[in-house]
Amino acid sequence: MEALLNYIDGELIAPASGEYLDNIEPATGEVYSKIPLSSEPDLEQAVAAAEAAFPAWSAMPQEQRSRLLIKLADAVEAASDQLAIAEARDNGKAVTFAKAVDSYRASANIRFFANACTQFSSESHGMGDVGVNYTLRDPVGIVGTISPWNFPLYLFTWKIAPALAAGNVVIAKPSEVTPMTAYLFSQICQQVGLPKGVLNILHGAGAQIGQAIVEHPRIKAISFTGGTATGKKLAATAAPMFKKLSLELGGKNPTLVFADCDFETTVKEVARAAFSNQGQICLCGSRIYVERSIYDRFKEAFVAEVERIKIGDPLDESTQHGALVSEAHMNKVLSYVQLALEEGGTLLTGGKRRILEGRCEQGYFVEPTVIEGLSLQCRTNQEEIFGPVCTLQPFDTDEEAVALANGTDYGLATSVWSSNVQRCHKLSKQLQFGIVWINSWLLRDLRTPFGGVKASGVGREGGEEALRFFTEPKNVCIKY
Ligand code: NDP
Repeated sequence: MEALLNYIDGELIAPASGEYLDNIEPATGEVYSKIPLSSEPDLEQAVAAAEAAFPAWSAMPQEQRSRLLIKLADAVEAASDQLAIAEARDNGKAVTFAKAVDSYRASANIRFFANACTQFSSESHGMGDVGVNYTLRDPVGIVGTISPWNFPLYLFTWKIAPALAAGNVVIAKPSEVTPMTAYLFSQICQQVGLPKGVLNILHGAGAQIGQAIVEHPRIKAISFTGGTATGKKLAATAAPMFKKLSLELGGKNPTLVFADCDFETTVKEVARAAFSNQGQICLCGSRIYVERSIYDRFKEAFVAEVERIKIGDPLDESTQHGALVSEAHMNKVLSYVQLALEEGGTLLTGGKRRILEGRCEQGYFVEPTVIEGLSLQCRTNQEEIFGPVCTLQPFDTDEEAVALANGTDYGLATSVWSSNVQRCHKLSKQLQFGIVWINSWLLRDLRTPFGGVKASGVGREGGEEALRFFTEPKNVCIKY
């Protein structure tokens, strides 16, 4: 059985502990590889390698750094089919989705920041006849990146690309649940000749090696994507050490459907927003609010659309809905369906584990599930389920729609479906979210600020926001 390796100082090496965790394929429930259980000695080795690499990497002319990263992006793109298959196997997601979204975005992230760093400029502030200020933006130094399992390589590269492009050296920890593509990526880094120690990848348990990265005094910034509870814990450790911290956390995103929407497109897109990646996207719209005059018509069309989603082996090109990432996560999602029924909800479709035949008979498949009849205050509508479960509820006025949308602790993303331009602008202002999509969902431009408010996080990723996070501004004031 293949044992994955850490990537430290340009070498693929076994963990100091000699211990490994099981890596399970979610579609089959079988262990198919071993994950290094990294600990402090591995981290110390990675920090030493990163420290040694920093002077040359940070001093490298921007154009040269950009060329190296473009070479890396090209190599990731060339391997994109292989990476997508690996992602489908490791995560349970449908391979066609992994090709279109995960592996496409992994190379796009690197290419984007390879170019963006050559365009990045700093500010100057004139003081009339008195003097002038200019801002220097230097790399932070050693930065830690911690990423989740739902888009393993996509979110991993979303962090390391701006960090490296800005001249930092990185210690990255992928989720222990989905380590495979980060491992394959480390092999690609070797092939393209990324300088040793510039990027170091440590696999293992979040509570152990993840926590150690956050606690390490010589790691100056942490970029984290994951659950809100983990984010809170991280902040409690990092804040008293005055580390730079970017937290992209959970969501409980509302979808607002108005009677004047483009009905057919909206039904399809709202289903996509709820169930893409088996509902395991922080941006998924899991609370769907529909204007009462079209509620029944929408419900019928929506449930029919959801029932057409093809569940199957993630490696089958025709599959649209694969397995959930782990048995524990499947059980958590199913427990929320049970809770929804106890809270008085009515199941419109789905609600069960789906047992497939053949290779996937032990896999963690859950049917796309739609529930109605629940209040905003119930736990089903307040807590992040992060699976293929959504709720439907009618509303009567724009004010009520906004109040429902804003009525949770989260504030990551929302989408509004209406042909009334004035309403769309007005609501966009009133909705308390980091991202508002109008007549669209997951339409992404990598230059835009990405992130949430309230319990959905602190800080923004994407474009210049990411390059600002990974640099330290210094003001130089000159008197004439
Ligand atoms: P977790 O919070 O469980 O884990 C995220 C990462 O943190 C993993 O690499 C994990 O390692 C690591 N980790 C766990 N404990 C610690 C610790 N004490 N110190 C340092 N690192 C730690 O999230 P999930 O992986 O379950 O991902 C799902 C969550 O991510 C959802 O809440 C989702 O909304 C959110 N998310 C947010 C996004 C956003 O942009 N806002 C985008 C995508 C997901 P390990 O896996 O090894 O335990």
